[in-house]
Amino acid sequence: MKYKCSICGKVFESSEDIVTCPICASHIVEKVIEESKMPIPISINNPGIMRIEEKCIKCGRCRMVCQKQVGVVYDFNKAKREVCLSCGQCILNCPVGALVPKYNYRKVLDYLHDTKKIVVAFTSPAVRVALGEEFSIEGNVEGKMVTSLKELGFDYVFDTTFGADLTIMEEASEFVERLKNNGPLPQFSSCCPAWVRYLEIYHPNLIGNLSTCKSPIGMQGTMIKEYFSKVINVPKEDIIAVAVTPCTAKKREITLPDNKDTDFVITTTELAMMLRENSIDFNSLGDSNFDSIMNRGSGAGIIFGSSGGVCEALLRTAYYYLTGNNAPQEFLEFTPVRGYETVKEANIKINELELNLLVIHGMLNIEDILKSIENGNKKYHFIEVMNCPLGCVGGGGQPLGVVSKQEEMVNKRSASLYKEDSKVNIKASYENPDILSIYKNFLDKPLSPKAIELLHTSYEDRSSILGDNP
Ligand code: SF4
Ligand code: SF4
Repeated sequence: MKYKCSICGKVFESSEDIVTCPICASHIVEKVIEESKMPIPISINNPGIMRIEEKCIKCGRCRMVCQKQVGVVYDFNKAKREVCLSCGQCILNCPVGALVPKYNYRKVLDYLHDTKKIVVAFTSPAVRVALGEEFSIEGNVEGKMVTSLKELGFDYVFDTTFGADLTIMEEASEFVERLKNNGPLPQFSSCCPAWVRYLEIYHPNLIGNLSTCKSPIGMQGTMIKEYFSKVINVPKEDIIAVAVTPCTAKKREITLPDNKDTDFVITTTELAMMLRENSIDFNSLGDSNFDSIMNRGSGAGIIFGSSGGVCEALLRTAYYYLTGNNAPQEFLEFTPVRGYETVKEANIKINELELNLLVIHGMLNIEDILKSIENGNKKYHFIEVMNCPLGCVGGGGQPLGVVSKQEEMVNKRSASLYKEDSKVNIKASYENPDILSIYKNFLDKPLSPKAIELLHTSYEDRSSILGDNP
């Protein structure tokens, strides 16, 4: 083992139990950890993840995953601030549980005990197909999940597939506008906050390609505060909006100025902890339905939780906007963008319009494409990007499993979502009656001034974080 003397600075090797510096005989020495074994730097202010230092065994696995799987590459010594996407992939790969989501659930529990506040949960599609793993149940546990949230004391439980449908209404409209007005194309999806942050840091010159749509939780949080509060006649200040997500990066997303309507993000694993700490026996719970007004998402909203789902959902609605007809069967089971491959490509024709679509998960896999777009590649019209393996189903806030079985686990979760999509009658976002009603009663139409004000956002060049890095 290598040591460094804290008094004279000498670096030396020793196999003794009591280590003494060979130069100054000091016993004040520290172990020298090879750089590749050093844990990834995580600041105390990171809103998405944290490290329990006493547990860390300095194995370097988090560093390897961050650099070689996620694709976050920078010189730790030169960066001006921490370059973390808060994606949580290091959490899923730490062998001793030293990395965890930044826990917010205790603050949520406090609000649940505050009778003056109306506390609203809204759950992302990927949560219902993973939460059961915490209690040895496979597949979709939507009904039990809703009951469990009610048992915890949430006043209302909504489905974030509603927010996903709203996102698609806006994003497909934006896409059609860009097609008609020469861009900027390709349009990049914007619902994955880790991807948005990556682009802001590494390729800020392509920010104009990002859809300006907030993510589904961003839109739903705003609709809860601006619309639902009026429906139930409660001041928005008395409503606490809690997004239950598979994602630790969403905890960072809600710190951004346009996304503050969502008060808390708790992950799938935090929800399981809340249930255990409150002695709620998940396995014995019956099923409940989501509450009305924002209770219903289309099949398109459901598949948002898997890589390729956003692209397929967008296609179903963009087809309708471009032709006036419902999307054909091939778009309701659009296999070219389904499955685990990290890069999936599809070419489709809508009337005379030929569209090239790309679906990618993992930042490493988008890097060459981004460089080619910077160099003038105009091949693609729409690119969906997710940070985590197979999209949100593989998020950093999902239950931990055996690392070698992660691909199998995310494939099963994804299959549960597509199975749900195959069962529902409403396949596309523009067919969802709750969505039609919120436009009729409140938002007017996609891309209306009100929709732009409440449902869209802007981005920032964050490249200065990299400091002197190349
Ligand atoms: S993976 Fe976990 S134990 Fe290993 S260095 Fe990182 S934080 Fe420490
Ligand atoms: S959260 Fe993601 S980006 Fe941040 S250190 Fe972990 S793997 Fe890297």
